Parts: sequence; structure tokens; C-alpha cells
Amino acid sequence: SRPVLEVKNLKMYYFTNKGVVKAVDDISFTLNKGEVLGLAGESGCGKSSLGFTLLGMPTPPGKIVDGSIKIEGREIVGLPEDVLRKEIRWQKISMIFQGAMNALNPVYTIGYQMTEPLIYHKGMSQEEALDRAQKYLELVGLDPEIVYRYPHELSGGMKQRVVIAMALLMEPSVVIADEPTTALDVIVQAQIINLMKRLKKELNLSMIFITHDLSILAEISDKVAIMYAGKIVEIGDSEKIYYEPAHPYTQKLLAAIPRLHEDVERLEFIPGQPPNLINPPKGCRFHPRCPYAMDVCREQEPEMKEIDKDHYAACWLL
Ligand code: SF4
Ligand code: MG
Repeated sequence: SRPVLEVKNLKMYYFTNKGVVKAVDDISFTLNKGEVLGLAGESGCGKSSLGFTLLGMPTPPGKIVDGSIKIEGREIVGLPEDVLRKEIRWQKISMIFQGAMNALNPVYTIGYQMTEPLIYHKGMSQEEALDRAQKYLELVGLDPEIVYRYPHELSGGMKQRVVIAMALLMEPSVVIADEPTTALDVIVQAQIINLMKRLKKELNLSMIFITHDLSILAEISDKVAIMYAGKIVEIGDSEKIYYEPAHPYTQKLLAAIPRLHEDVERLEFIPGQPPNLINPPKGCRFHPRCPYAMDVCREQEPEMKEIDKDHYAACWLL
């Protein structure tokens, strides 16, 4: 299958008055048509920063300082804001923002909020836009009559479905979902995961699914990328990552997943804190927390190596 998103050596730094925060630091990967890439890592590792960067809108004071983002072959790094807004964002790549369901505007109907961008960006008539909105509400398992309702009349799960429908409305090539099940109860979480799986099949959706919870990714991802301190440290097919994790950090993350029926006392946690990204540790950024750290790890940064077909990791042990 063909690549819909190609990211090469991408760097996005926040220029704060305390220093430069290297939140996305030399990241490369490819997403193919119809594929779900799970992006996992502890909070603060740069997952959401990467999401916003791919949308061409790093949060201020963030700036893309290097690298390339190609969507359907078109370079978007360096495009002026008005071109991004008119041609790329939402139409080619969209994002389900973390907590977006609580950011729906309380004073407008769902229909108004869904049709406004279609009328404004796509030049659709009111009627066409309403048709499109209702079609997508049905697709996500909602009653199309919800267009006449206000956000406060909907449950959390329904609002999350609305937000998913909004991200799909302009039929983008790539959808980024940032923690789309966080803040929902367990049953609704499962329903949303099932919805995403169904959409993936029905629409042949290409998606980046961001979460700190690896147990969720096992269900939905074809590929998994593990992020640590602004870098991808391991990437590969889901099965490879789950059954043969190569990087010590991935191994630790997997050991920290609570499994059903398992004695909670026995869960492993990763000691220490993720590093400060203004002054990240020299060499391998994981070395202060890694049980296998060697001298070379404190001095030199390990490069990504192909350790198996389509399975890459950056660690001096490999
Ligand atoms: Fe641990 Fe060294 Fe590998 Fe980093 S490079 S994960 S410190 S063994
Ligand atoms: Mg986040």
C-alpha cells in the first residue's frame, strides 16, 4: 500500500524564556493508506506536540526547525498559514484533540458546529453541508437528528462520537486521534475503540492513534511507535512490539500494563521521571532510568537500527 504521510527528520522546538524545549527531536516514520499507527509513551514525551506539528500548527512558542512532512506526496513544512488553512488542515489531515468533546461550543447546535467549516472551507450550500453532517453522524452511530441538539443534551460518549464525525467530515487522508478514550468510562471507551476499528475498515482510514495506554493500542494498531523524551525509540508491527519488544523502555512500558486478573501489587512501574527536554541527558536519553545503561549510553546517542523486517529500535544493546 502507498504512503499517505511521510515524516522525515522532523524537529519542533518550543522557544521559551527558560530555554529551548526539544519536544519533537528528529522524528521519522511513514504511514500507509489504511494503516493505524499507535503512538505511545508517558505524558510529556512529545506525543501531542508531534500531533499538532503534523497539522502544521505547533502550539506557540513552538516552531518547526527542520525536517519534512509530506501528505499524499505534498510537502507541508514551509507552506504559508493561509494555504495550510485553506488546503491542508481538516481537508488533508485532521485531529481529534484531547478533550475536544468538552470544548464543543455550548451556545451553538451540533449541526451549526459541523456545517460551518463545510460552508466556509468547501463552499457548500447549507443544505449540502447539513446532508454531509448527518451522513457522518450516522456513520459514527448517532441519530442524524442530533444536528438540532446542543452539546449539553448529549452524553460524554455521544459528544466524543460527534467530535470523531467532525474530524472525518472533510474526508481527510490522515486522522490523528489524541487520547480519544481518555476521560470516558470503561464501557464507553470500549465502544469508541470498536467504532474506530469499524471506521478503519469501512473508510480504509489512515490514522495516528496517540495514547499513554499501550493496552488500548493492542486492539487497534497495525504499527506501534514508542516515544521517549521527544524521540521515537522503537517502531514496528504491533505484534513485534508486543511480543518481542527490543528497547528497554518499551519493555518497561509493557510490563507496566495492568493485565486482567493480575495481582496489582506485582505490576512493574518505571522508576524515575521522564527527563526535562530543555537539557536532555547526553547520549541515550533513557540512560538515567535504564537498568542496562553502559558507559557508551551516557556518551553517545544510539541510532535507529533495523533489527528485524520493518522493526527499528535505537539502543546500544542491539
Ligand atoms: Fe539502556 Fe543504553 Fe539501550 Fe539507552 S542505549 S536503552 S541506556 S541500554
Ligand atoms: Mg498529550
